[in-house]
Amino acid sequence: MEQPEKHRILLIEDEADLRRTLKLNLKDQGYKVIAAADGRDGLEKARSKAPDLIILDLMLPGLDGLSLMRALRQESDVPVLMLTARTSEMDKIVGLESGADDYLTKPFSLGEMLARIRALLRRSERTATRDTLASGGIRLDLVSLRAMLDGQDLRLSPKEFSLLAELMRHERAVLSRDLLLTRVWGYEYAGDTRTVDVHIRWLREKIESDPSNPQLIQTVRGIGYRFDGAVGADAASAASDPGFVDTDE
Ligand code: CA
Repeated sequence: MEQPEKHRILLIEDEADLRRTLKLNLKDQGYKVIAAADGRDGLEKARSKAPDLIILDLMLPGLDGLSLMRALRQESDVPVLMLTARTSEMDKIVGLESGADDYLTKPFSLGEMLARIRALLRRSERTATRDTLASGGIRLDLVSLRAMLDGQDLRLSPKEFSLLAELMRHERAVLSRDLLLTRVWGYEYAGDTRTVDVHIRWLREKIESDPSNPQLIQTVRGIGYRFDGAVGADAASAASDPGFVDTDE
């Protein structure tokens, strides 16, 4: 069997015992592990070591996990598995909205962590190699830069295409206006985040069945936008099926 190249995991965790245990176990599983004990060192290593995945503790000295996450997402798509001791639903939402890809609450089993790591690595490899994005009836060809909705050419402008691709590449994740501005318009762009809102409005007019009640591109108040093809497809099939009866209590 061909020996695959080792995945590099950056482990940012301030509890020494947990850091040591996880490092040993991850190495046992064939991963190359880089460890950091505080947020600043973690961000520095995220930049300098180009890990394939980051395990990030939420509560860290120096620079906390959420601030680190926000800084990281300005510059990198690396998958992040967030660890936290908090259990409330609100904290979970905050963690995911910061751009983390998945979330584990302490205490967790090693088996559960390994399963999440494998899933995240598989997903990011698929994303890196594919040349189309498809969800919610929309198909983006990343080579020819054509966008189709149910087989019809959407005729998106280059900026609309890039914006939609960025949202679809991170389906269901909330992307902030600042992040979208940086990713789609570039660091050197002097415009403000209203530029993003204007382009989202134009996109909605082209892709939403009811642009005033958008399903595919959702606004997350105070933060930014999220693409969800599953919600869009459900709403569309519910609307187009006259026999549809909502039986939810
Ligand atoms: Ca901690």
